[in-house]
Amino acid sequence: EPREDSRRENLLTLNRRVLLSFRNQLGKNARARQYLESRLIPGQLIDEFGLGYADGREYSLLELFEENHDDLLELGLIASGEDKRLYDRFRQRVMFPIWDAAGGVVGFAGRDLSGKSPAKYMNSPESGLFEKKKLLYAYHIAKASIRKKRRAIVVEGYFDVIRAHQQGLTETVAVMGTSLSTYHARLLGQQTDVYVVFDGDEAGLRAALRTSELLTQSDLALRVVFLPDGHDPDTYFQRHRVEQFEELLSQARDVGEFRIDRLLESSSGDVTQLSQAVRELREFINRIPDSIRRQAYANYLRERTQIDPFGSGQSPSGRSRMRP
Ligand code: ATP
Ligand code: MN
Ligand code: MN
Ligand code: MN
Repeated sequence: EPREDSRRENLLTLNRRVLLSFRNQLGKNARARQYLESRLIPGQLIDEFGLGYADGREYSLLELFEENHDDLLELGLIASGEDKRLYDRFRQRVMFPIWDAAGGVVGFAGRDLSGKSPAKYMNSPESGLFEKKKLLYAYHIAKASIRKKRRAIVVEGYFDVIRAHQQGLTETVAVMGTSLSTYHARLLGQQTDVYVVFDGDEAGLRAALRTSELLTQSDLALRVVFLPDGHDPDTYFQRHRVEQFEELLSQARDVGEFRIDRLLESSSGDVTQLSQAVRELREFINRIPDSIRRQAYANYLRERTQIDPFGSGQSPSGRSRMRP
């Protein structure tokens, strides 16, 4: 549809102009620059990742882009209040432009600086232009390295990506507050070793368990890393060298084995718990499309528990084995 294409182009162009205005506001706001300095982000990285600032005023974009209020609404850059008055949605936030694979600015994420917002991060709302489950932050910057190194590092946060790139790990991208999806897997490519690095906190652990379901739909080599001492990659690299991080990667667990281990560990109390966990894992294994991988996990589960999860004479597909 040519008309839809030009609609999309218009929105991308407006986003790019908004990005320039956020960059401009950062230049004018000493407090925002001090914040980035306190987070040890040098100017060169601010430029490379296009960081900007949305000031605390309610009408900055409204005034700057008077002709484009409808488009700004559609992009979620302004919103309308209960009294129908329009106001800037992002205020007092460091702004991260989100690019698609082709380098179009499809949305923004904003990090609260006020300390008063209940949401530390705020994203552009979902739209045809901005689909979180399909996007990987910084993919358009990282994709050449990912191809070359045949390796991708997926982290949780925007600052984590920037810090990793600073360390030379330019194959690093982040999910946008979602789990890794099959779209992401497709973007990263089947020839890629994927290391998913989770913050060493409760949220990181929950995210890791969610991510392990991805296995059922993809045959990517996915490995899981948990950072020690409550670190995320940003804070980790403030204390550790890249060599130590590479050591963590080399010890990374396969994501399916990780899931099996976690479930067994949390249900080892008694036989009822254990049987429940084995049943759940049997379902998990049955959902894996690749039969070799399915059997490998079945064997792993059997070795760990001394229980044949599929009962005698059953293959991991759940169907009866053929008699000779
Ligand atoms: P910072 O270092 O700036 O404090 P972080 O990146 O370490 O933040 P986490 O709390 O570890 O933030 O969360 C990881 C990621 O999850 C964030 O980078 C962001 O993408 C997403 N996220 C966290 N909180 C929110 C939120 N309230 N709304 C949307 N996404 C969020
Ligand atoms: Mn976290
Ligand atoms: Mn974090
Ligand atoms: Mn952090």
